[in-house]
Amino acid sequence: MIPTQPIGSIPRPAALIDAVAANGGNSEDPALAPLFEDAIRDTISRFEATGSPVISDGEQRKYHNFFDYCVHGLPNMGPDGFKIPFAAGHTRRMPRLVSAPFRYKVHADQYLAVALRYATVPVKQAVISPSALSLLYPNEGIPDYSREQFIEDLLVEHVNEVRSCLQKGAHAVQIDFTEGRFAVKIDPTGALLASFIDLNNLALARFTADERARIGVHTCPGGDLDSTHSADADYAELLPSLLQLNVKNFYIALAGEPDRKRVLSVIKQYLQPHQRIFAGVVSPIDPRVETPEEVRDRVLEAAEYIPVAQLGTTDDCGFSPFSDDLSTTRAKAFAKIAARVKGTALASEILRASA
Ligand SMILES: [Zn+2]
Repeated sequence: MIPTQPIGSIPRPAALIDAVAANGGNSEDPALAPLFEDAIRDTISRFEATGSPVISDGEQRKYHNFFDYCVHGLPNMGPDGFKIPFAAGHTRRMPRLVSAPFRYKVHADQYLAVALRYATVPVKQAVISPSALSLLYPNEGIPDYSREQFIEDLLVEHVNEVRSCLQKGAHAVQIDFTEGRFAVKIDPTGALLASFIDLNNLALARFTADERARIGVHTCPGGDLDSTHSADADYAELLPSLLQLNVKNFYIALAGEPDRKRVLSVIKQYLQPHQRIFAGVVSPIDPRVETPEEVRDRVLEAAEYIPVAQLGTTDDCGFSPFSDDLSTTRAKAFAKIAARVKGTALASEILRASA
């Protein structure tokens, strides 16, 4: 069977979103804990009902978004950090580190521990990349806290987070690297992308080979409010560098690409024998639910370029990386996931019969 895994986020239930809003946006109020627990339990139960052999907790507890969950609410974070403009016209903004030291408030293994209490199938855990968090450090610097010291503190926190997830029993840990393609867009010289790859490889070098076999990296053009931040940046400028990351698994948005065959040819050219490509076969920002047959055909297309033993499938992105993105309903997200699972199984049968 061709393995299939989700990316991560699922839209939060309306009852939870309404309760957080009524609480002035304070998602960390302990009074809301029972609603979060309900959201996680319901998400996992519906995830398992799709037949997905690997699930996530839908990132219900990464309440605000996928990139600053680990530092959200810390007193040394200001609101005015790095900006990410989307094609639909809106902008998302990261926090900015205003003083030393850099520490996580939350590590994602806390979320995993809760998910594992409810799940009856393997659970994947996503974490934010060191390269994304490196953008928290201001260009003008911080007195008595050099960028070098910040990067070392960041690497320690990231490695602890990933290793704790692996030790607690994550089936896989996915490092969210949506800023890779964005780097291609904002710095056509390639220098920013190269610095991101180097930093993430510094982190990956701290794991054992066995650990790296359960670690993967997700790339996409962004997926927020049915819009992207870097779909206009050429994948061919990103993928050769991406595949230099010292890791086994790559979760690559592909379903939403206008020319999938071209992207697949680039992957084929740079793919190394120890790597596995989880190709995106459903698109969260496409309002239409894909059919299993469409998914099947996308898998068969990918198998023309990627050896079946190195192929897997995934969603192009999370279904709600920012919790205030209500452009996709929970029902639609699970319908798309069910299509991914069925279509991947259909393709597996055909490829097995022809092997
Ligand atoms: Zn994504």
